[in-house]
Amino acid sequence: MVLRNGSSGHVVTVGAGNIGSHFIEHLGRMPGVSRVTLVDPGRYEEKNVIGQRIDRDDVGRAKVDVQAERLRRIDPDLPVAAIPERVEDVPLGRLRGEVIVAGLDNRRSRQVVNEAARRLGVPWIDAGVDAGGLLARINVYGAREDCTCFECGWDDRDYRGGDQVRPCDPEPEAPPTNAPASLGALAASLEAIECEKILSGDATTLTGRQVLIDARYHRHYVTSFRRNAECRLADHGPWEIGAVALDPAEPTLAEAVESLAAPNAREVTSLAVWGQRLVRGLTCPKCAARLPLLRVAGGIRPAERVCPNCKEEMLASGFDTIDQLDLTVLSPSDGSMSLGDFGVREGDVLVLGGASGFIRTVEISLTDHSEPRRNP
Ligand SMILES: [Zn+2]
Ligand SMILES: [Zn+2]
Repeated sequence: MVLRNGSSGHVVTVGAGNIGSHFIEHLGRMPGVSRVTLVDPGRYEEKNVIGQRIDRDDVGRAKVDVQAERLRRIDPDLPVAAIPERVEDVPLGRLRGEVIVAGLDNRRSRQVVNEAARRLGVPWIDAGVDAGGLLARINVYGAREDCTCFECGWDDRDYRGGDQVRPCDPEPEAPPTNAPASLGALAASLEAIECEKILSGDATTLTGRQVLIDARYHRHYVTSFRRNAECRLADHGPWEIGAVALDPAEPTLAEAVESLAAPNAREVTSLAVWGQRLVRGLTCPKCAARLPLLRVAGGIRPAERVCPNCKEEMLASGFDTIDQLDLTVLSPSDGSMSLGDFGVREGDVLVLGGASGFIRTVEISLTDHSEPRRNP
């Protein structure tokens, strides 16, 4: 592969369904791709065989595993990371590619990708299809502060509506099962063309614009979007994110916070993990047993969720989930657990706050990938 100067050639894809399954294959044949990360929590089902780029043998398997295997068959030397999780749960740093390419069917996940891309300073490509109207479209969002983003065009109704799409909404949504493979492949091809342009530094990239192809009447529309000064993401540009390598088993939570704060010489009073909720306890929905534990939600190990009384899966109630940890009331036992036991994972971005507000954002890479030690 040929990489431009300063290019990482790392492509992160989110979604491996009607559009994503067709797109991912292109990466195996695309110049300038040096590494691929695949994100999708799902498994292929029987009904996906007609709309998605899979074979009957793939039914029942994790989507990211099927697509990673296909890429390896095309290019055995291409490093591929398969993350079988919802994008909402993936540590921010693991989405840091040269470009993020989405094949998603809901606005909530697009919103998460958009915010992650803005924070990381990474361009991203969105796509959608509308089976009834035979429409396929893509949008390319640039990384710079002055570039339009996915939420720039939203108004109050969009925020109230959640996943509902108004009939006049210009953005077609992919119904999960009935979009034909041909339409998904069309949107995927448009994405692949723009992805290749971004990787090669081509100035004709579609940044800030949407291409919509009406395949019924063969019309082709290109629309430009402007940065909205009132956008919910007020600081529209990339965050300055420091990088620190830590052994997950070594520093205690309290020591880690202290060392991360040291360069800023300010007392850290709060800790958050970007995009993640923190959990203070799990409750059994069957026998109501409650287990106090302090964890990053995405870092709770499956064994920790099993109810000691009845073996049911325990859940975190609303009362037991928080956005940030108040370090001024951290108990000594919580402070002395390791970062790994706290549930910090590779690529998690910690946000440190002090008495007078934000202090520092730092991405954690873990130096030791062995299982974190267990609490006694
Ligand atoms: Zn915006
Ligand atoms: Zn129970």
